[in-house]
Amino acid sequence: MVFIEIPPKAGRILSVLCENGYEAYVVGGCVRDSLIGRTPQDWDITTSASPEQVKRLFGRTIDTGIQHGTVTVMDGKDGFEVTTYRIDGVYEDGRHPKQVTFTASLSEDLMRRDFTINAMAYSPKEGLVDLFGGMKDLENKRIRCVGDPGERFGEDALRMLRAVRFAAQLGFSVTEEVKASIRALAGTLSRVSAERIQMELVKLLVSPRPQWLRLAYECGLTAVFMPEFDRIMAQRQNNPHHAYTAGEHTLVAMQNVPADKALRLAMLFHDMGKPQVFETDERGIDHFHGHAAYSEAIARQVMKRLKFDNETLGMVCTLVGAHSRYPKLNAFDVRKTAYEIGGADLFERFLLVKRADVLAQHPDVIAQKMDYLGELEHIWRDVKLHGDPLSLKELAVSGNDLIADGREPGPAMGEILQALFLEVLEFPERNKKEYLLERSRGM
Ligand code: ATP
Ligand code: MG
Repeated sequence: MVFIEIPPKAGRILSVLCENGYEAYVVGGCVRDSLIGRTPQDWDITTSASPEQVKRLFGRTIDTGIQHGTVTVMDGKDGFEVTTYRIDGVYEDGRHPKQVTFTASLSEDLMRRDFTINAMAYSPKEGLVDLFGGMKDLENKRIRCVGDPGERFGEDALRMLRAVRFAAQLGFSVTEEVKASIRALAGTLSRVSAERIQMELVKLLVSPRPQWLRLAYECGLTAVFMPEFDRIMAQRQNNPHHAYTAGEHTLVAMQNVPADKALRLAMLFHDMGKPQVFETDERGIDHFHGHAAYSEAIARQVMKRLKFDNETLGMVCTLVGAHSRYPKLNAFDVRKTAYEIGGADLFERFLLVKRADVLAQHPDVIAQKMDYLGELEHIWRDVKLHGDPLSLKELAVSGNDLIADGREPGPAMGEILQALFLEVLEFPERNKKEYLLERSRGM
């Protein structure tokens, strides 16, 4: 007998539904995660009650996806998605089910789900409902479709990328049958919206195994939504700094940064411009001069295509564009670089990017480059300790101070502030109002 500890608030929702004569189970990801000792992200509930009936039973609800049968039941600050048993209608275009039909049968609801490990339900009263061998697949650590993979991917092509994403998150293998099916149908992923692809890609990248993006590549999926990645997988680097192709180096470099969205994306894109600047010299050594700017342009293009938000896009592009900078080992150049990159937070991410990049290079060059990075980090710690100004906001005079001092507002004032700031970057001890006002009068 399997036992799953359900959080009290979710348990209460199940009880209320049951006491009112409905069936109700926790389902999907939370059951899967509980069974393998992972902490579930959220507890989804599936029920025979209709959305209207659910709304009548609970005080505070939100119509999250009422047309698909989902109502969010609120308990304090926590929300639980309660979805009526449903059968997904025909997927018109490989995008959305044309319509969903509610059903009275739990088994029909479980049948519409993508993978066996995601198609189990549990209730304290009934125990585990596992109709497709999900438990066995969890034990064998494998991703298998509910039913025929070709058919299931035909209904919703995103499931192909989801298979790879779950494999990467859980460390599971994808069955040969599923892989073969993905290879055959990979092209149909082009019908799926950019937003849905982006969500799965990010989950894959921030998983403990971002390098499993290789599986998406091998099955032909990246060729559909990110052919730029396929190009670096084929990009040789016959160069003393490198031990792998640009693509394999990228996969290693992604593992070398913490599981943070912007950092993993920055590593994904950091060398994508290499094929565009690839040159071989007379000794047969490959060079990629100025690749960072090309990588940044590709990052921008791909992230726009995949509809990333502007904040993530901006941060990732900055890091990619800056990754091959080598600030000089003095406090002034470190402050100047931090300022140019966009401040302390970005500079710290820049340090993480550089470290990850170096650690994925040829063993022969790692030690020497790590010495440089260690020194750079040391200088940075001092800069932070001193609290040296790194942005115009931290300058001891503002535009208003200049106006109060008799200066006409206008474009010239911006230039003066800029000039004062550059001086302070070099000599932080001069960041004093009196001194700077005096300086400005001669400008
Ligand atoms: P997590 O939320 O931890 O990423 P999850 O398993 O909860 O994992 P979701 O994408 O939140 O994944 O989906 C919840 C459940 O809905 C899944 O476990 C699965 O049963 C079902 N599901 C989600 N998307 C699909 C799909 N495209 N096709 C079939 N079933 C799906
Ligand atoms: Mg979920």
